[in-house]
Amino acid sequence: MEAVMLVRYAEIHLKGLNRPYFERSLMKRISLALRPLRVKVVREQGRVFVFGIPVESMDESADKLTRVFGIHSVSPALAVEKDWDQMVEASKVLVARRIQGFEQASFKVIARRADKRFAMRSQDICRTLGGLLLEAFPVLRVDVHQPDFYVGVEVRQEQAFLFAEEKLGAGGMPVGTNGHAMLLISGGIDSPVAGHMIAKRGVRISAVHFYSYPYTSERAREKVVELTKILASYAGEVDLYLVPFTEIQLAIHEKCPKSETTVLMRRLMMQIAEKIALTCGAQALITGESIGQVASQTIESLTATNDAVTLPVFRPLIGFDKEEIVTRAKAIGSFETSILPFEDCCTVFVPQHPVTRPKLADIRASEARLDFTQMIETAIANTEFMTVE
Ligand code: ATP
Ligand code: MG
Repeated sequence: MEAVMLVRYAEIHLKGLNRPYFERSLMKRISLALRPLRVKVVREQGRVFVFGIPVESMDESADKLTRVFGIHSVSPALAVEKDWDQMVEASKVLVARRIQGFEQASFKVIARRADKRFAMRSQDICRTLGGLLLEAFPVLRVDVHQPDFYVGVEVRQEQAFLFAEEKLGAGGMPVGTNGHAMLLISGGIDSPVAGHMIAKRGVRISAVHFYSYPYTSERAREKVVELTKILASYAGEVDLYLVPFTEIQLAIHEKCPKSETTVLMRRLMMQIAEKIALTCGAQALITGESIGQVASQTIESLTATNDAVTLPVFRPLIGFDKEEIVTRAKAIGSFETSILPFEDCCTVFVPQHPVTRPKLADIRASEARLDFTQMIETAIANTEFMTVE
């Protein structure tokens, strides 16, 4: 017996002429997500089948695929010869797993017969298999309208596929089909969620993190790498740039008005992020900001931050409450890591009384008074790079 993933895809149905391109991208993402397994991905009649999966890694593989953007749902299936006894046997194996822990469960059988030479018609398969399963599992009853689960039977040219589970996928579009953007990732709750949302739209993500060693610790850095890893489990490989930011932060801290330090720091982060973005082909910046969440996220502050760069800045969380962001962070699995108590460089030098309505002219003047050009160059020259997957 061999396992097969039966993949139904999401929005990419809609993409008329681009459809083959989206399908190819999705197939590539599926292969990458299942590495190191060497799978064979086949597209057929609006669905994708993934072959070459050992039965013992069936569940794990299905779970990995539920994180691949562009997938509507996944059914882990068993592939057997088109032999009735083998088909019944396989469906029993799947049902036994499916009903574990249930005291009662309702089901129905849905059959598709692509190979019309197969002796039984779809209706006969449903009725006969349904009867056999009822006999074998006393906890089962049939419900054709709202079953707890259904048993799928697909009789194809070469083999028959059986499944008893349909796992909901992440939706969205395959990563890489909508360009490339640079995420400013902190160790906080918001930025990984922001990155996830943009990746879901098919955008390849790179990430940049600013650290202020020795004011921020090695473990704060590891935490960011870990968050990037979680993001990469959805977005595929993420190129991560780790930028030493201490010199710039100290300069701002020592030489600029205290009330302006946060906005100035954010402008410098944006400028460096933009420079790195341009060298690696990223077409936009992403941040985890939301209006009014903190002093640096008033409309005036966001305007002053935007003013430092020309690339578009995506802020997918702009209208979200913290609570909504937390719910998303929990759903994608980044929350527990985000709340580990390691300081971020933003928290190390926070002014007591930040300006909440900075005047652009004042901020520009403060920035111009210090010449950051050389410091920016040095920070970029000392940036560490790693590919996280
Ligand atoms: P988060 O939870 O993402 O840290 P936050 O609510 O703490 O967000 P800020 O600290 O003001 O908000 O940061 C706003 C945004 O600036 C972050 O979402 C992130 O995109 C970016 N940012 C903040 N600190 C860093 C950093 N050290 N490196 C890279 N980007 C950062
Ligand atoms: Mg933060």
